[in-house]
Amino acid sequence: MTDSFSNAFEQKGKFYPFSTQLLINGELQVGEGHQESVINPVNTSSISLIAEASNKQIDDSVKAAQKAAPHWAKTTPIERASYLLKLAQVVEKNAHYLADLEALNCGKPRHLVMRDEMPAAVDVFRYFAGAIRCRPNAAAGEYLPNNTSMTRMDPVGVVAAIAPWNYPLMMLAWKIAPALAAGNTLVFKPSEQAPLTSLAFAQLIQGILPPGVVNIVFGRGESVGNSLIKHAGVRMVSLTGDISTGQKVLQAAYRTVKRTHLELGGKAPVIVLDDANLQKVVQGITEYGFYNAGQDCTAACHVYAEKGIYEKLIADLKLSIAKLTFGDSEDEHNDFGPLISERQRNSVASFVERADELAHSEIVIGGNIPDISGYFYQPTLIAGVRVEDEIVQREVFGPVVSVTCCDNEEQALAWANQSEYGLASSVWSGNIKRAMRVASQLQYGCTWINNHFLLPSEMPHGGLKRSGYGKDLSMASLENYSVLRHIMISHI
Ligand code: NAD
Repeated sequence: MTDSFSNAFEQKGKFYPFSTQLLINGELQVGEGHQESVINPVNTSSISLIAEASNKQIDDSVKAAQKAAPHWAKTTPIERASYLLKLAQVVEKNAHYLADLEALNCGKPRHLVMRDEMPAAVDVFRYFAGAIRCRPNAAAGEYLPNNTSMTRMDPVGVVAAIAPWNYPLMMLAWKIAPALAAGNTLVFKPSEQAPLTSLAFAQLIQGILPPGVVNIVFGRGESVGNSLIKHAGVRMVSLTGDISTGQKVLQAAYRTVKRTHLELGGKAPVIVLDDANLQKVVQGITEYGFYNAGQDCTAACHVYAEKGIYEKLIADLKLSIAKLTFGDSEDEHNDFGPLISERQRNSVASFVERADELAHSEIVIGGNIPDISGYFYQPTLIAGVRVEDEIVQREVFGPVVSVTCCDNEEQALAWANQSEYGLASSVWSGNIKRAMRVASQLQYGCTWINNHFLLPSEMPHGGLKRSGYGKDLSMASLENYSVLRHIMISHI
């Protein structure tokens, strides 16, 4: 299937075919707007110049979604499920190819993309194929004499779905699958920094869905994204991205009172109580603090450790983090890749520099840009930081874990809840009663106990406070992409 792709990138003697075309109204089209360079963050070379959608193409894609909406909304759950299963099959069948592209475009270790992201993307399409057929039936009853009332869940309409660069294909699946299952049509825009798997998906699914049901456009946030969120034909904007981008979506949405679904940043507190299994904690933080180079809104990036375990935790974490591998020519050896861009890498470095200037902080390991090509940053552990410090309060989105010492469980809980973010958190303790007491009071969309990071498709994922609102995954996501209506039937 990928033989038909018009471009190929050669790296170390291997050819990566890729597509630069947009999918609008069922047709593949070359963008007619500004040309944007897509960079390989491992060797910093340009993979391709890709033309973004012009204003006319953006308008065409929204109009195509509008035109397709009435018919798609009338399809039965079984029909929509069968389409979603086909999309799952496309991803599964092309998983090796798509993993190649994700690794090329984001610098991720390919073996981890194959192990984690591809099966997760496939599963999300399969989950929503099942979920839409299992959605609980509407309640019906007589609430006024001689009248039967019932509720129904209908599609919202055209959804503009806008994704970030950290897990490109997985984010596409998280947005497209529930929106389609609930009967909406879409215009999807991947991040301008990581569009290759989305554009490949556009080509691979062409002809599978009725024209206009899914449109995929490429372009920068300030041009294509901005036009999409302001478009009067769009009924809902679903964004995963930065808080500042979420604020722009809200500003644009107020004009036409669009529905919004915002998955914004996170700064996950990891509360480690004295009675935690130290080995398990160290393993968990090493794995989930640095996975995807820390470019994860749920990363285990800030630890509140009770004073009885603090010193030992720092010492053991240092040893464990020292074993992490990056930048090796053997993909299988790498635990994580580079940051997505020079800008992101420099932003991470600046956060660490500012933390290092504090008299009370200590860089235990890392803290530098390594002397190799690519936008890598050393896995870094910073100890001794205080709750008010920038490194504790702001999302770094890089391979950096900081640790604060706490007097007790109450203090750890209070400090964790001081955050403006509210996406993910974890509590580590050998005493389930203590862990549950803390978990029940945390103001975060998700709390893991003696674990971190894992997200089954059946469970809701989404934030509180400035991390946004609306849920991805689970039945709750189907609800977010639906409108609840009341129908009343008179008996006389
Ligand atoms: P970003 O906000 O810069 O970009 C996200 C998307 O929004 C991109 O497609 C971008 O082109 C688009 N965009 C940017 N400006 C826009 C505008 N003015 N109008 C419309 N669209 C616009 O975020 P990023 O740097 O790509 O991703 C990192 C951020 O995403 C982090 O803050 C991270 O925490 C967050 N994130 C959140 C979750 C979650 O589930 N809560 C998951 C992954 C990433």
